[in-house]
Amino acid sequence: MHYFHYKNKELSCEEVPLRRIARKVGTPFYLYSYRTLKRHFQAFDSAFAQAPHLICYSVKANSNLAVLRTFFNLGGGADIVSGGELMRALQAGADPQKIVFSGVGKKKEEIKYALDSNILIFNAESSQELITIDSAARKAGKVARIALRVNPDIDPLTHPYITTGLKKNKFGIDIKNSLQQYREARKLKNLEIVGVDCHIGSQLTEIKPFVDALKSIKDLIVQLKKEGVKISFLDLGGGLGITYNEEAPPHPKQYAKALLKELKGLKCTLILEPGRVLTGNAGILVTRVLYTKESEEKNFIVVDAGMNDLIRPSLYGAFQEIVPVKMRSANEIVADVVGPICETGDFLARDRRLPRFRPGELMAVMSSGAYGFVMSSNYNSRTRAAEVMVSGKDFYVVRENESYEDLIRGERIPEFLIHQ
Ligand SMILES: *Cc1c(COP(=O)(O)O)cnc(C)c1O
Repeated sequence: MHYFHYKNKELSCEEVPLRRIARKVGTPFYLYSYRTLKRHFQAFDSAFAQAPHLICYSVKANSNLAVLRTFFNLGGGADIVSGGELMRALQAGADPQKIVFSGVGKKKEEIKYALDSNILIFNAESSQELITIDSAARKAGKVARIALRVNPDIDPLTHPYITTGLKKNKFGIDIKNSLQQYREARKLKNLEIVGVDCHIGSQLTEIKPFVDALKSIKDLIVQLKKEGVKISFLDLGGGLGITYNEEAPPHPKQYAKALLKELKGLKCTLILEPGRVLTGNAGILVTRVLYTKESEEKNFIVVDAGMNDLIRPSLYGAFQEIVPVKMRSANEIVADVVGPICETGDFLARDRRLPRFRPGELMAVMSSGAYGFVMSSNYNSRTRAAEVMVSGKDFYVVRENESYEDLIRGERIPEFLIHQ
């Protein structure tokens, strides 16, 4: 469900025609619908209404300050994976007591920053990390609240690059060793064990892997209780998928229902870390057609957005729907939509049946709100695109497009080269 639709054959976001924004901001740009973000958050949040819960939005999916603020205003918290994300979350007004810190490679300085900010929980991923958090907490004169990220060895049936809960993945602690790890953690004086955490992967379109993970974690919580370790927070991570093409992921309501059923009897606050499901279909990438190249073997539509702007198609072979901003009864062709980057892997779509776009026309790449702008780069010295948010009849530039000066900020030519 989203608020991108055609009005008088023109694609609009809520009440704003895309053409208007393109004229003001230039192309390419990312566009987010406030109403859609709000609706997605509320649908997800209300699905868990009957149980104590906290929605910690996964900042890495889309970390624009305006997007973060939208969720914080609605009572959400943040799941962060770096000091930079912590800074963003705090800048955007997050309540530190609603922030959880995930990730396999937390640096000492990041841990200190999080301790100083008094975040809710560190989701620790290894015994060495536990020791590091403990010693950082001792130095800061604090006690760090921790959960262990356990790896339940469950196949989420998704793309191999985005599975995280398999034994062969780098994430978490093998569930078989987790009890032992908890015992070790108990001995560390500046840690307070408060939770169990897992996150099994991304873009999951079935409920079963989530339920299976929860089942094995439940056993662990029962065992921990027997040993006198009280678990107040159960963090089930994120990963709920969205429709890009023909996927039919469960609605948050069904997802919540299945989890809550399994949770009965456990007196924990449930933490969820949704990313993609909140922002994915609330954003699009708008690009302009530069040239078309048609031949007997192959047709290309060259647009002004490339893999540096949106890498999902190149990186994962991901499908994202492409539609014209101005609908017209044009004949169709099968074409690759490619960007200006000097790489054969630079494409937004391959062998796609599309209207016969003409140079100058605007095109929308749908479902770009998650893992879109955040994964963009300056490759080929391309300035990163602007980000825009629409609310009702108005639009706001929530990140300016970069300038050439931005591209070289911090770079310098050393003296010895200047005098050669
Ligand atoms: C990426 C990530 C999420 C969010 O995943 P989505 O698939 O976007 O919902 C949540 N928790 C952790 C630990 C993650 O790494």
